[in-house]
Amino acid sequence: MFKCDAMDKGVVVDVDLGRVRQNAEKVAGMAGVPVYAVIKADAYGLGAQRVAREIAEAVGGFCVFSLAEARAIGLWKLTGKEAISLGPPETLDAEAWIEQHVRPAVSTVEQARALREARPVLCVDTGMGRFACRAGDVDAVIEAGGIDEAFTHATRLEQARALVEATQGRGLKLHAAGSALLNEPEARLDAVRPGLALYRDAVTVRARLIEVRRAEGPVGYTGFGARRYGVVLCGYARGLRAGECVVNGRRRRIPEVGMQSAYVELGEEDRAGDEVVLLGEGLAPEELARMWGCTAQEVLLRLVAG
Ligand SMILES: *Cc1c(COP(=O)(O)O)cnc(C)c1O
Repeated sequence: MFKCDAMDKGVVVDVDLGRVRQNAEKVAGMAGVPVYAVIKADAYGLGAQRVAREIAEAVGGFCVFSLAEARAIGLWKLTGKEAISLGPPETLDAEAWIEQHVRPAVSTVEQARALREARPVLCVDTGMGRFACRAGDVDAVIEAGGIDEAFTHATRLEQARALVEATQGRGLKLHAAGSALLNEPEARLDAVRPGLALYRDAVTVRARLIEVRRAEGPVGYTGFGARRYGVVLCGYARGLRAGECVVNGRRRRIPEVGMQSAYVELGEEDRAGDEVVLLGEGLAPEELARMWGCTAQEVLLRLVAG
């Protein structure tokens, strides 16, 4: 466990790296195929370098979004494991990829041909409609790149099936499943690529009640009603949105969020100086995602990366 004071002194983020490793081991045990740990976007804000170091032994390899991400943390030197770059290749210089032991994802004949020496991986379009190869162009790209591995970005089982369909009989290693499809045995294919599932229950974000008051009428910009409420120094500038939090073991409402502060509805027992858990202690990213109208990945990025 380590702590870091985020930019805003009102917020403390705890990342439990041991939990990330347990998650990686659990996924590896359950999937029965190699795990390519997705550590793009600085491991969803948790810190790609420390996450990669912690889980290197438990996983088969890594996925980043760009060559620059792998280079920035010295991923190959740090872990001795190869990575796949999931985004569109930022350079067609094969040497640059080989040097970092990162395999570029390619979707066009031009990319595949230029990057052949870097052992490119084919990205097949099964619905995302961006930097991916249409089923009809698969053979040309395989030929141009000497491709032996292909994947698709999938959140539904039909997409994993479409990948198999589009590449059938070519003897490729295939993968499709991110966190959303880990529980679908049919989607596991030859490897799985979880991001979110690795970071589950590993993050706690806390702030403190800097003041507590009894309402004498409508409060804040929105004029919300609350008998007792408190204030934390964390606002939308730090990624927070209205929803819920945990105070002294109880779920409490966050009725309004300002730029750098937020209101928290309180009970009689809550006091200034008490801790407000904005993420963690049973309040999962998935749950906040429903309240905020976004994905669980976005919740992590917003609250952890700040
Ligand atoms: C981000 C990403 C993943 C991981 O997604 P999670 O839902 O966080 O597990 C897997 N595959 C691709 C192509 C991605 O871009």
